[in-house]
Amino acid sequence: MTLAHDVPTQQSPAPASPPPPASPRLVAAVVRGQRIAVPCPEWCVRSHSEERLADLSDLYHEGETLALAAPEFGGVSEVMVAALRQDPFHRDEDSGMPYLGFDATGGGNPTSLQEHAALAFIDQAIAHFEKMRDQVRQLAEARRVAEQQTAG
Ligand SMILES: [Zn+2]
Repeated sequence: MTLAHDVPTQQSPAPASPPPPASPRLVAAVVRGQRIAVPCPEWCVRSHSEERLADLSDLYHEGETLALAAPEFGGVSEVMVAALRQDPFHRDEDSGMPYLGFDATGGGNPTSLQEHAALAFIDQAIAHFEKMRDQVRQLAEARRVAEQQTAG
């Protein structure tokens, strides 16, 4: 009979090595009339085959878009537009790596945010909306006071 403390210490098995990256999904893109195959990440929802690109550097990947419908004078605007993006053939500050495309005004000119900057902004936005909530409470009180004065 072997007691548990007699069992030689076993080394924990080596952590399973991560599975090899799946082969990238290849999609057709049309650049200057030429159909070419380009790798496209799983999160991309663009229809590259329907795009007619003047240059390969115009190709970008984009995930599902989030937008906030915000009331404004005379209607509603979509603001705080965010989507995962990647410009794989564009060698700028993002070096072709994925980023969060963020367009505060919905004007169509997203800036690129990496995780830390995006999370810092989200924290600021949450604090902003909490202050707006305080303003709404203040509004309710201001209306109550105004209604009493009007009634009296
Ligand atoms: Zn894509």
